[in-house]
Amino acid sequence: LSGRSQSKLREYNGFSSSERAKVGKLQLEAIRSGKFPKPTKCELCGTSEGQLQLHNEDYSKPFVDAHPICRSCHLALHVRFTNPERWEKRKAHIREVRSSGSDWWVKLIDTPIDINPAHKK
Ligand SMILES: [Zn+2]
Repeated sequence: LSGRSQSKLREYNGFSSSERAKVGKLQLEAIRSGKFPKPTKCELCGTSEGQLQLHNEDYSKPFVDAHPICRSCHLALHVRFTNPERWEKRKAHIREVRSSGSDWWVKLIDTPIDINPAHKK
């Protein structure tokens, strides 16, 4: 989630670049119009500083599965398939700095998956 024009997103969890971009746009519009709360705190490291974004695992549920996340955690999470070390380091950092919160991110696996309901046969 951001106002800047984004370079082409990679496919993630079976959702294409354009499906992901569409969700990002919907979320941004919803936040701007006050229909969805603006992210204020990273669910992973707990920071409220810098640019807060929204992370989705399932892009078929743009507003149900939308986790507030800081840019550093977001980047590390998304590159974990090609740069697992960066994600491991980030997770170590998160464990150091956070006190409480949800832990959906702990369960993320390091192999790409496809959870796009449109791909179900
Ligand atoms: Zn964070």
